[in-house]
Amino acid sequence: MKFCSHCGGVLSQYIPPGDNRLRYVCGGCQTIHYQNPRIVAGCLPIWEDQVLLCRRAIEPRRGYWTLPAGFMENSETMQQAAARETLEEACARVRHLDLYTLFDLPHISQVYVFFRAELLDLDFCAGDESLEVRLFHEADIPWSELAFPTVGRTLECYFADRVAQTYPVRNESLEALRAHYKKA
Ligand code: ZN
Repeated sequence: MKFCSHCGGVLSQYIPPGDNRLRYVCGGCQTIHYQNPRIVAGCLPIWEDQVLLCRRAIEPRRGYWTLPAGFMENSETMQQAAARETLEEACARVRHLDLYTLFDLPHISQVYVFFRAELLDLDFCAGDESLEVRLFHEADIPWSELAFPTVGRTLECYFADRVAQTYPVRNESLEALRAHYKKA
């Protein structure tokens, strides 16, 4: 960040009085430009004993499989964001969204949240950001071709929890993700 989005003035970085972190501050209008983590919301769409995955048509990780997810927009709830991303990426409608996994990724200042969701019908197709959308049985999950460890870990949790038919909300650690990375 170099210039102020309010007045076009030059920004400098320092700790403002009363604060304890480096901030971008405008030399012109004195506006402090705070930067905060971004939330990625997504769904784990379920149809009978299968789950829906999308093959990414965009970078990063083009060609790899993912759960439909994306950055939350202003003025929407997390559930709305997850359902909207599912509609955009998989042209799929979901209902009964239940909070399932939450990943803090402080190293990239992101928070990932996935909801378990019931796929409404089989009328889905690849949206603009997907090359392909399809349902997978557990045995067919392309574990080594998943786009992100948060996706792999959410699927791992789901297939494990499905055995007992109980789905506690899981606030997963970076260590769990790293373990998944090593296995994949
Ligand atoms: Zn300014």
